[in-house]
Amino acid sequence: MLSPSLKSDFPILAEKVNGRPLVYLDNAATTHNPTPVLDASRNYYEHLNSNIHRGTHYLAREATNAHEQARITIAKHLNAASPDEIIFTSGTTDGINLAANILPIAEGDEILISALEHHSNIVPWQMLAERSGAILKVIPCDEDGVLDQSAFANLLSAKTKILALTWISNAFGTVNPVREMTAAAKKFGTTVLIDAAQAIPHLKIDVQSLGADLIVFSAHKIYAPTGIGVLGGKRALLETLPPWRGGGEMIKEVTFEKTTYNDLPFKYEAGTPNIEGAIALAAAFDYVNSIGLDEIHAHEEILIRQAATALSEIPGIRLYGPANRIGALSFAIEGIHHYDLGTLIDQMGIAVRTGHHCCQPLMARFNTTGTTRASFALYNTEQDIDSLATALKKAANMLR
Ligand code: PMP
Repeated sequence: MLSPSLKSDFPILAEKVNGRPLVYLDNAATTHNPTPVLDASRNYYEHLNSNIHRGTHYLAREATNAHEQARITIAKHLNAASPDEIIFTSGTTDGINLAANILPIAEGDEILISALEHHSNIVPWQMLAERSGAILKVIPCDEDGVLDQSAFANLLSAKTKILALTWISNAFGTVNPVREMTAAAKKFGTTVLIDAAQAIPHLKIDVQSLGADLIVFSAHKIYAPTGIGVLGGKRALLETLPPWRGGGEMIKEVTFEKTTYNDLPFKYEAGTPNIEGAIALAAAFDYVNSIGLDEIHAHEEILIRQAATALSEIPGIRLYGPANRIGALSFAIEGIHHYDLGTLIDQMGIAVRTGHHCCQPLMARFNTTGTTRASFALYNTEQDIDSLATALKKAANMLR
C-alpha cells in the first residue's frame, strides 16, 4: 500500500467539510492537484507567461520551450512514436469531437460504440451519423456491466469504419479488453479511438502496443488542471486527415485565395493553447511516475476490494460492475434514492457522486436513473474506506 502521508502532497485534502475531515471519493469526476503540479502552474505565470511559437523575445522562447518540453514528457509517458503525435486539446470531450469531425465516413458506413460509453463518446458520433448518414451501432453489456464479446464479433464487419470505445467505464469501473478489441477491429480496417479518460490515472499506457489509431484523455483525471487534455494519434493517419478548427498556428501560409496547413501537431492546435495546462500535465506525469503507476494501481486495487467487501454488508445493497473493476465502485441501496444518500453522507464529509454519471443509456440498460459512485485515487486510504462504510450504514439506517 502507498503511504497515507501522500495525502499531504495535496493541499485541498486538508479542507474541512462541515467541520469534518474531507474524504474525497469523487476521483472519477476529477482528481486533485499535488503541490508539484500547483507549483508548475504558478511558476508558469510567475516566470514564463507569454504567447508561444511566434515570439522572438526571451519569455516567448522560454514559454515555447517549456510547452514543447511538456509535449515530449507526455509522449514519453505514453510511449508515443513521436511528440508530434501528441495533440493538446481541452479534454476528452474536445478530443472526441475533433476525431468525429475529421474522420472520413460515408452514408451506410457504421460507427461502433459500446453500452458503457460516457455521453461524450456517444453524442459526437450520433451527430456525425446524423450529418453523414452513417449508422451508429452499440456493443451490449451483460448484467455485470461487461461487454458481450461475441456480440462485438458479430457487429464488426468491413462496414465498421470507426470503433470508439472506453478503456475503463467511469460508471462501473469495467475494464474493457481494449488491446484485443482493437486488434479484432483492425482486421476490418476500422479506425479505433480509445477513450482513456478513466484509464490514464490507473494504468500504464503504451500507445504503440495498444495499437489504436487515436487515444483521448483529460488532464484533470490525472492530478492536473481542467481545460487541458490530449488526443494521441498515429502520424500516418493524422497526416491524411483534414484540419478541423481554423485559425492561428494551424497554418503555414494564408492568402485570401488559399491557406496551406501546418505540420503535426500544430495542424490541430488552432489558437493560443492552454500553455500552463500542458506544463502542469507534464508535471503530473512526473509526479505519478515518481510514485509508480504499478504501485498506484496495486494500492487502488486493494482499496476498491476493501470497499466492495465493506459495502456488501449493507442490507439491500447492489454493487454494479465486475469484481475486477478499476477506479469506480457504483452501488444502489434498495428503497433509497441515490441523491438522498449522497446528500446525507456529504454532511458527514464524504464526497461521492450520485446520478447517471453521464451514462444515461447505461443506466437505462439497468432500469435505473442513477447510482452512487465512490471512486478512488492514489491519495485514498483504508481510513477513507472505513469512513465511507460507516457513513453509508448510518445514512441507510436514517433513510429507511
Ligand atoms: N469519457 C469518460 C470515460 C469519462 O470518465 C469522462 C469524464 N467523466 C469523459 C469522457 C469526459 O471528460 P471531460 O469532461 O474531461 O471532457
